[in-house]
Amino acid sequence: MSARTVTLLGATGSVGQATLDLIARAPEGAYDVMALTANTDAESLAAAARRVGARFCAVADERAGPALEAALAGTGVTWGAGPQAVLDAAAMEADWVMAAIVGAAGLQPTLAAVRRGACVALANKEALVCAGVMMLEEAARSGAVMLPVDSEHNAVFQAFDPAQRDQVRRIILTASGGPFRRADLETMRQASPAQAVAHPTWSMGAKISIDSATMMNKGLEIIEACHLFALPQEQVDVLVHPEAIVHGLVEYADGGLLAQMGCPDMRTPIAHALAWPARMETPVERLDLAQIGQLSFEAPDLERFPALALARGAFAAGGAAPAVLNAANEVAVAAFLSGQIGFLDITAVVSEALAASEGGVDGAPAPGSLDAVLAADALGRRLAGKAAAKLAR
Ligand code: NAD
Ligand code: MG
Repeated sequence: MSARTVTLLGATGSVGQATLDLIARAPEGAYDVMALTANTDAESLAAAARRVGARFCAVADERAGPALEAALAGTGVTWGAGPQAVLDAAAMEADWVMAAIVGAAGLQPTLAAVRRGACVALANKEALVCAGVMMLEEAARSGAVMLPVDSEHNAVFQAFDPAQRDQVRRIILTASGGPFRRADLETMRQASPAQAVAHPTWSMGAKISIDSATMMNKGLEIIEACHLFALPQEQVDVLVHPEAIVHGLVEYADGGLLAQMGCPDMRTPIAHALAWPARMETPVERLDLAQIGQLSFEAPDLERFPALALARGAFAAGGAAPAVLNAANEVAVAAFLSGQIGFLDITAVVSEALAASEGGVDGAPAPGSLDAVLAADALGRRLAGKAAAKLAR
């Protein structure tokens, strides 16, 4: 069997490192790494390139170029710096691309891989939230395969039989509930970044950890699921499941529910996408259900977690709204992490930005175009910046 050529966008992050770990453990010759990218962390990128024998490295931040050059000296690995270098990495002819940049920053590199018809393992949910329609149209045009890496969507993908699409009644995304599942509003109001980032079950990057604490992560995932599985949002439910063992479910016409389970370790869904349509070994801990004994489920609390309704509202509104929602959330999370606003202010900022954006985007670029998405993203950032400044403590 010839090697699968792979590129990792966001190689230094939590998902990127988990992917590298699987590649490094795979049998010799299974994967041939073409390119790795990161934002600024040149040292860690160069170490990854050495570990898996990558041919090209790119940092998005121009200023990190000299550090990358120094860290790669003598390795023969070629490199680039700046946003165009990341796009070049995505455009190289790898069979398989892991899209694991965090936030809307991942949109254009992911799109570059989709446009050339690669098999795209999609972790970067924000790209789909802000440009889902365009991304799927481009995939249909190029023949790109989109493999969901988000654990819930990966689970649904495995349980969803496309031949029985007409018989699918709904899908269910599980949510751990995050660190504030049982917290009262006063505790949430006072929560520090350190408390909010401490996820009870999953180990992840800072932004998605905060999104899990507000449950905006699940809101973004509802939108992600609607795009990936071509379902109306009425058929996408959320179920709180603190043990994070059942990752996603598909309900069929006969009342049967198919679920995918496993220990909460991203290497299982990543491995599913990496080996797809085959399977591969992973070092992930095996699930011992007898030892776990019980699994629990509860409905999400829509009052303490308004992010769910905000995301559903933005998806229903369509147009610029999902991109505004996503951009405003990125700004609000950054403002919370830097101590500018409180925890409950995150969703307040998003809500205010969405309300203020209702007039839409000025200058009217063609709806659904990349320019329209970028304009909506910029608008969301501007409005959220204003809202956060008003709330600043
Ligand atoms: P992370 O913060 O750990 O890593 C982000 C990666 O993106 C890093 O390699 C960073 O260098 C790169 N990056 C950041 N800003 C960039 C920019 N402006 N330009 C280019 N590269 C940039 O994030 P993560 O937790 O690995 O999450 C990555 C994506 O996967 C997110 O969209 C997240 O929602 C999704 N996801 C993550 C997990 C998880 O377990 N961590 C689970 C499901 C989905
Ligand atoms: Mg998820």
